[in-house]
Amino acid sequence: MPRHSYKKELSINLKHTSHSQVLQAIKTDQTTCEQIVNHYLTKIEESRHLNIYIEVFEEEAKKRAIELDQKLQNDPDSIGKLFGVVISIKDVICYEDHKVTAGSKILNGFTSLFSATAVERLLAEDAIIIGRVNCDEFAMGSTNETSCYGPTRNAADPSKVPGGSSGASAVSVQAGTCLVSLGSDTGGSVRQPAAFCGMVGMKPTYGRISRYGLLAYASSFDQIGILSNSVEDAALMLEVMAGADDFDATCSDRPVESNANTTFVSPLAGGRGAKIAYYDSALNHPGMDEGIKKSTFNFIEKLKDRGHTVEPVEFEHLDYIIPAYYVLTTAEASSNLSRYDGIRFGHRTAEADNIHEVYKKSRTEGFGAEVKRRIMLGTFVLSAGFYDAYYTKAQQVRRLIQDRTREILQEYDFILAPTSPTPAWDIGKMRDDPVAMYLADIFTVQANMAGIPAISLPIGNNVDGLPIGIQFMADKFEEKKLLEFAAMLK
Ligand code: GLN
Repeated sequence: MPRHSYKKELSINLKHTSHSQVLQAIKTDQTTCEQIVNHYLTKIEESRHLNIYIEVFEEEAKKRAIELDQKLQNDPDSIGKLFGVVISIKDVICYEDHKVTAGSKILNGFTSLFSATAVERLLAEDAIIIGRVNCDEFAMGSTNETSCYGPTRNAADPSKVPGGSSGASAVSVQAGTCLVSLGSDTGGSVRQPAAFCGMVGMKPTYGRISRYGLLAYASSFDQIGILSNSVEDAALMLEVMAGADDFDATCSDRPVESNANTTFVSPLAGGRGAKIAYYDSALNHPGMDEGIKKSTFNFIEKLKDRGHTVEPVEFEHLDYIIPAYYVLTTAEASSNLSRYDGIRFGHRTAEADNIHEVYKKSRTEGFGAEVKRRIMLGTFVLSAGFYDAYYTKAQQVRRLIQDRTREILQEYDFILAPTSPTPAWDIGKMRDDPVAMYLADIFTVQANMAGIPAISLPIGNNVDGLPIGIQFMADKFEEKKLLEFAAMLK
């Protein structure tokens, strides 16, 4: 018998909670894993109108919760680091014997044969996975609107997009349907939805978390990231998932630092102040939303008041970031997505007379408009006549961006920028204007181009009640410093 009946009200408020609070409540008999899972399942029901979940793993989550409660009772010392953590996963992350579709019709009916390394590590530490959440098709987009399951809505205002591509991951935490969520970040897909929904969103250094079992969009940019209520939980999740993996040669074998109990001592309390750079000209750009600009400058003042050094620097390559990113990522995507051929995975056309038609019709029927646009663009920039003009050029630009970013980060601890130049916009607003949507990635893409870690933190709401995020980037493998600093800011 569980220690409490399902009906009993939870004595802790799970919304905006962190794992340490949940664990404390479990250990002091205020609640159980079973009760927590039931609470989240009710929340999932209540938020159906937001279109967050593609699939809820209801029965297995309940079963696992009961097993975990037993484990605690039988041997309290054996519980894992993520005991009681309920997680949603983006529909691009493989979980053995579960469906995964990347929000695409082309993977309709496909079941994963193995789990992503990140998922295995979470489960090994006693996390509970409650379901698979919506996202832009193959993580291509900034709004969650390119999904074949329709858009997810922002819980702060359901007429607005939640951001993308990990939009539903952000809303799953925002709407209180789970404690944390796994997303993926190729050009901002964890941080921008975190900003739009008022959550913490963390993208680690390229190579910090294994990509094994993450459906590829652009392999030299993709990283699994974390959406959470607190910096503390992002730190804990990172610590569990990070580290070498034989199944991903790009995964670093650097030892994983413990991020637990992070303490960056505030200068006000005698600690060292951080040295922070920001791009003044970008913040004063006419395309910047006035509310975000104001909040960002206010935030800069607050940092200075607290004893940190915040200085403007020039980043002369800013205008080239988006074009280079969209050349390189579409090139990689055109190659990565060639495996979806109607033969090996998911959807196959019913109407082909020969093998070429199988490929052509399966892909025509299976992929949505945005994915097709990117496959065509990527194929074009890789084609013999244009390779040097576009692909090689974009690689050179990437190198310049990497070099300049590292140069700044040798002088400064962090680079500060708004996460997004605008708050969440209306659903449908950018659907027919992909270039406008691409340009809104201006502040997030740099971290992926340079392979560095970055975190988006909520800094309040604008006059319309929409969340605003601020972003900090640090040098490669400086997650600990980044997280410690972020934790101190709260
Ligand atoms: N919005 C960006 C894009 O569409 C980022 C996507 C991502 O990080 N997966 O490419």
